[in-house]
Amino acid sequence: MNLLRGISENGGAVVCVIDSTELVRKMEQYHKTSAVTSAALGRLLTAAAMMSTYLKNDTDTLTLRMKGDGPAGTVLAVANGKCEVKGYVENPIVEIEDRPDGKLNVGGAIGANGTLSVVRDLGLREPYVGQIPLVSGEVAEDITAYYATSEQTPTVCALGVLVEPDLSIRKAGGYLLQLLPGATEEEITQLEKNIAAMPSMTQMLEDGMSLEQIMEMVLHGFNPNVLDELNAEYHCDCSQERVERALISMGKAELENLAQEEPVAEVCCQFCDKVWKIELNRLVEQIKNQ
Ligand SMILES: [Zn+2]
Repeated sequence: MNLLRGISENGGAVVCVIDSTELVRKMEQYHKTSAVTSAALGRLLTAAAMMSTYLKNDTDTLTLRMKGDGPAGTVLAVANGKCEVKGYVENPIVEIEDRPDGKLNVGGAIGANGTLSVVRDLGLREPYVGQIPLVSGEVAEDITAYYATSEQTPTVCALGVLVEPDLSIRKAGGYLLQLLPGATEEEITQLEKNIAAMPSMTQMLEDGMSLEQIMEMVLHGFNPNVLDELNAEYHCDCSQERVERALISMGKAELENLAQEEPVAEVCCQFCDKVWKIELNRLVEQIKNQ
């Protein structure tokens, strides 16, 4: 289990903590991202995994899309109610100077001018869509701002991805602290103190702290209990059938045109880079017979 949720004894504060190292590693293996884009997409995937724990059904989905004016282009993460996460970055290779403090310049790669949109598809007729202007493009600040403005939930979000010089992922993780209505000033002050005293997420994982220990540090003074433990992983659910369905939805005329140009279409999955080879004439026949 790499994701843990805890709750304060009085029920007023909930925290989610994740070690997303393996999840981000799998993403890097699929997408061959450069260091800064590994950090950008890794952070967004980590946030999506934590936010997905609030989905009620396995088939519900949550999509986070950051579209800034930086060289990385759109960064997108999708999670379902089973804590399966997938994502992509429009330009996986971005070279940009580190920030003055030596950290990877995620804000520069994504760009601070743009939007963060959050789409929750709960299987209803219309998905729920929220959107805010980006704060910094650093991801955690943008997620925090989203909760504050769109959902009026006081939230602290921390995200970290540590990339080795050889571009492999050393550590990745995050936490998401949320206050339920009714928290007192005193409690808020205590939580602010706790957060200010926390090392970075990747440092805590480096130091070998368990998720439970991190939870106890965030909710220090609140006698927290573990609510549940889950396993979040990178998982792409693309299939021959899914790709064919997408092609069929283009309509018979369009497919016939395509089939004349190239009888076998190669469709690359954005999430896992798998290439599906589809015989278009067979699909055209299928539509005719319907
Ligand atoms: Zn795929």
